[in-house]
Amino acid sequence: MNIVILLGPPGSGKGTVSEHLCRKQHGYVHWATGDMLRREVARGSAVGEEAKGYMKAGELVPDGTIIRIVEARMETMDCDRPILFDGFPRTLRQAELLEDSLARHGAGIAAVLLLEVQPAVLIQRLGGRWVCQDCGAVFHVTNIPPKVEGMCDHCGGKLQQRKDDKPTTINNRLEVYTQKTEALIARYEARGLLKRLRGDQGLEKLAEKINILLA
Ligand code: AMP
Repeated sequence: MNIVILLGPPGSGKGTVSEHLCRKQHGYVHWATGDMLRREVARGSAVGEEAKGYMKAGELVPDGTIIRIVEARMETMDCDRPILFDGFPRTLRQAELLEDSLARHGAGIAAVLLLEVQPAVLIQRLGGRWVCQDCGAVFHVTNIPPKVEGMCDHCGGKLQQRKDDKPTTINNRLEVYTQKTEALIARYEARGLLKRLRGDQGLEKLAEKINILLA
């Protein structure tokens, strides 16, 4: 099993890059813990009820909850396809637990791709982001406008703003990234796994560079 981790602050383009890579190249399976949690919240499950307050405030959901979700998914995974982790791990504890879990499955991390973007660009991206409530496709009021306002180009679904893409929550999410997630950069750099990429270049160009790195 091949694991690639996408690391970067909220708004750095992890979701968009993952979607592109999974749809067009490599045959990766996309595992985004944020998407998994939003599904749990929508279902009203116990995990969703536990997570929703943290998510709305832009705080991290406790490590134990995240690990339970990821481990449950690992038990049912298709080992033939590489997995692209998006938004996980986000703390040192999650990174340690992931490594333990991968070791138990005889797997390891092939690469960690770090998307680097200036804070002002992150705030502009998150503040104008609209997401399809049906297929999850991501749009932006100015950067990637939908053909018809409020409607998804791919499936015709309704576009909505995420609850945590409000200005005060955005600032908190960026702060949480600096405090809790940035420490992972040094960890993976020390292990020779980290690949730095500019997240503010065009998607096609970025995907081309990622292809070369993962070849
Ligand atoms: P994202 O879609 O990756 O921006 O995640 C949205 C929200 O879900 C985050 O702000 C956190 O509240 C929660 N979340 C997602 N992934 C994790 C994780 N690995 N650890 C803790 N909380 C997470």
